[in-house]
Amino acid sequence: MKEKQFPVKETKELIRGEDKDGNKMINEYVRECKIGSGSYGKVVLYRSTIDGQHYAIKAFHKSRLLRLRVAPSETAMSDVLREVMIMKILEHPNVVNLIEVIDDPETDHFYMVLEYVDGKWVYDGSGPPGPLGETTARKYLRDIVAGLMYLHAHNVIHGDIKPDNLLVTSSGTVKIGDFSVSQVFKDDDDQLRRSPGTPVFTAPECCLGITYSGRAADTWAVGVTLYCMILGKYPFLPDKLQDIYDKIVNNPLIIPDGLNPLLRDLIVGLLCKDPRERMTLKNVSEHPWVIGEDGPCP
Ligand code: ADP
Ligand code: MG
Repeated sequence: MKEKQFPVKETKELIRGEDKDGNKMINEYVRECKIGSGSYGKVVLYRSTIDGQHYAIKAFHKSRLLRLRVAPSETAMSDVLREVMIMKILEHPNVVNLIEVIDDPETDHFYMVLEYVDGKWVYDGSGPPGPLGETTARKYLRDIVAGLMYLHAHNVIHGDIKPDNLLVTSSGTVKIGDFSVSQVFKDDDDQLRRSPGTPVFTAPECCLGITYSGRAADTWAVGVTLYCMILGKYPFLPDKLQDIYDKIVNNPLIIPDGLNPLLRDLIVGLLCKDPRERMTLKNVSEHPWVIGEDGPCP
């Protein structure tokens, strides 16, 4: 894969301090507020004193990561290092850009400095987002498909596509973020064994405990995301979370009457239980509902 135009800066020295108003600083960045918390760390908004721009900094404690075992011979540290390794090679308008990694061997802190994506899905709170309306949903879907086709073309499987990990800029561009469970393959072969993503977005073939194609599983998650954007609810949601995989594998897809038939056709194609029959992202990019009045995805 070709190098990024602006390679990720690797900073080996961390200086913690305060600005004149008493705000905490790390190197040239001034802390503003917490914007997210994740499985291993937190995400905090900072402003750079060098260029005045906002950055989202994902912060971890190395000692905690090293204590957290995710597999018999792997700790959470290897997950974070893989996330960094994958983001280092990615450069696309629909993918969140990693700017800098701050890892001072003398401190316990580890920081990923990310481009800050300042917009929101037009919904509040937790649970399924939407419904967004066809025009916004189409725009978002086109961006998601463009970003994900770029990832797949570079043998990167995202593994956790869902609205929480899809950030929207103030001008309405969607950027794919959170590569914490992503995998990169040496060639087109994308067989995966375990699915560490989010239960309601998991494809049926991943629930069966056999190997599955990572690309097709990402594509299913795009289908769940589209379903949420249009209908404002999850396609398969059980009363008890233990039953979720049973529902995904066995329950028929229910789409309310009266939905635009083109959109129904697209959702049915994406949420096809058999991964071999499922629509591919290329099919999606050429689908009449996706094309709309804007033409095929670039
Ligand atoms: P995790 O792997 O812990 O889920 P994420 O990378 O998804 O971590 O970040 C957690 C949350 O922080 C996101 O859902 C989002 O709300 C916020 N966030 C992450 N990166 C950014 C960013 N670049 N710009 C704005 N908000 C972000
Ligand atoms: Mg996330």
